[in-house]
Amino acid sequence: LFAGETVFVKGVVAMSGLPDPDRMEVCFAGRSNVGKSSLINALTGTKALARASNTPGRTQEINFFTAGDELYLVDLPGYGYANAPLQVVEKWQRLLKQYLSGRQTLRRAFVLIDARHGIKKVDHEIMSLLDSSAVTFQCVLTKADKVKEVERTAIIEQVRGELVQHPAAYPEIVVTSSEKGWGIPTLRALI
Ligand code: GDP
Repeated sequence: LFAGETVFVKGVVAMSGLPDPDRMEVCFAGRSNVGKSSLINALTGTKALARASNTPGRTQEINFFTAGDELYLVDLPGYGYANAPLQVVEKWQRLLKQYLSGRQTLRRAFVLIDARHGIKKVDHEIMSLLDSSAVTFQCVLTKADKVKEVERTAIIEQVRGELVQHPAAYPEIVVTSSEKGWGIPTLRALI
């Protein structure tokens, strides 16, 4: 799947800028600082990759990456910035809604949750948007190396319980650490 070199295709700020829906795609969503760039880097084995998404000016874009012609990896802008102006948030929500509900080739979303924090209100909002857009999603716990095993088990149980309220959620939770490489082969296989 990731045999080819993964490359940045484009950053999109409006529906008109989306690349042609000529291949399947999966998208990654999560609060800012959840470890999304690190995870995409770990998945693709390309260090410089998601750095593109974190450069100033690109953080509000939907960023498309591809490996060969098979698949797009779509990096959605991180949400939940404490200081984001309302106007920016609204513009972003509008684009996100349009993208999620209108993208025929989008096969699955991965919603990243920090293993230390569990599901927050903004995460539930994104999940509800995925529910109403009929985009199935899977929860990925990030930075699992930062919590002790007992805490990890408790968080997994808690997340599992909260996912029940989302009809579009897969029950299976993927536990990852980009730092340690945990869960990366599993996630790759799922994709
Ligand atoms: P993004 O804003 O969601 O793209 O988050 P980044 O990938 O930039 O990561 C945010 C911070 O968390 C950085 O300081 C990373 O080094 C750190 N981080 C990301 N993934 C992990 C992980 O698996 N384990 C640990 N310990 N730190 C991580």
